Amino acid sequence: MDLDRLAELIAELREPPYRVGQVWRWLARGASSWEQMTDLPLALRRELAERLPLSTLSLVAEARAADGTEKALFHTHEGKPVEAVLMRYRDGRRSLCLSSQSGCPLTCTFCQTGRMRFGRNLTSWEILDQALHFRRREQPTHAVFMGMGEPLLNLDAVLTACERLPELGISHRHTAISTVGWLPGIERLAREGPPVRLALSLHAPNDALRSELMPINDRYPLAEVLATCRDWWRRRKRQVFIEYLMLAGVNDRYEQALELTKLLRPREAFCVNLIPYNPTDAPYQGSSRRAIEAFRRTLEQHGLRATVRVTRGRDIAAACGQLAARTTASGETSAPQPSPVSDGGSSGSRPSARARAQIPAIAAAVARGERRGA
Ligand code: SF4
Repeated sequence: MDLDRLAELIAELREPPYRVGQVWRWLARGASSWEQMTDLPLALRRELAERLPLSTLSLVAEARAADGTEKALFHTHEGKPVEAVLMRYRDGRRSLCLSSQSGCPLTCTFCQTGRMRFGRNLTSWEILDQALHFRRREQPTHAVFMGMGEPLLNLDAVLTACERLPELGISHRHTAISTVGWLPGIERLAREGPPVRLALSLHAPNDALRSELMPINDRYPLAEVLATCRDWWRRRKRQVFIEYLMLAGVNDRYEQALELTKLLRPREAFCVNLIPYNPTDAPYQGSSRRAIEAFRRTLEQHGLRATVRVTRGRDIAAACGQLAARTTASGETSAPQPSPVSDGGSSGSRPSARARAQIPAIAAAVARGERRGA
């Protein structure tokens, strides 16, 4: 629901401004139609139903996994794909994975979203409408910004959405923002953001490998990113989650676990989350369970807290960008596009040196709101 547009309409209809709050409260409690908003005059409900859609997003495809995970693919009003996931856990947690952008300009080589054409930053209402979609089914308890896009390149909209998530039942403490290490964003979040959790997608224990996997590392190398995370920990007094995707033969060796233990200091500032890889079209395979467990044990033996993420929704392509790519491949939406920083191909290999050199400038322009994508 575009609350800005709603406020304009309410003013145009000479209704009191508090009507906006009434509508929002209904939506936050899971209302799925104007008719349900019974404290609004009937004539107003009818007028609004004709002039304003309940969501800024249209649902295009849905999938439900055997483990209860649900994934939704939406389109924005101009047809840009957006994905969101609801993960159901046995202990009762209901966690939403939200997208902050359609596509992503950062082209991490293992990521399906990074292989799509960058669309644009989502508005705060488009972010909230992903959450409201699932709120109509049940009460979510947690939210993570780990869907499509780099949230810190769209920080204003993400912060506005975060401010409203508690009204859906998701506290700031149960909200995590994940970044590949966009330093200006981490610094701003530490200074002025709400008390949300910070997760850093690390995925490699040294600069050479990290730059191979994530071109953004060329702009913000490990030492700088981790120093900023330590500042976050000191300032916020909250551990930083380290997300580490387990890629067979790439970053899962014993020596690499040892390297990681030297990097992540002080120990108490970090908690490592090892993530089994959901295979995509990218040229990587996930590490075996045994390799993941051995890696975890090495970290623990050296004093680092490390957990293995429970895999959810593997049978429905729950990793970010996968449903959009599959739906595209089956012809339901537009064809996959080369990334704005690729040389025209979408073969899945890393971007060329020329293309990589453009990434920081493009990302900076996106963060400043000067580039809208394709
Ligand atoms: S991993 Fe995140 S930052 Fe990297 S390309 Fe995918 S969505 Fe973008």
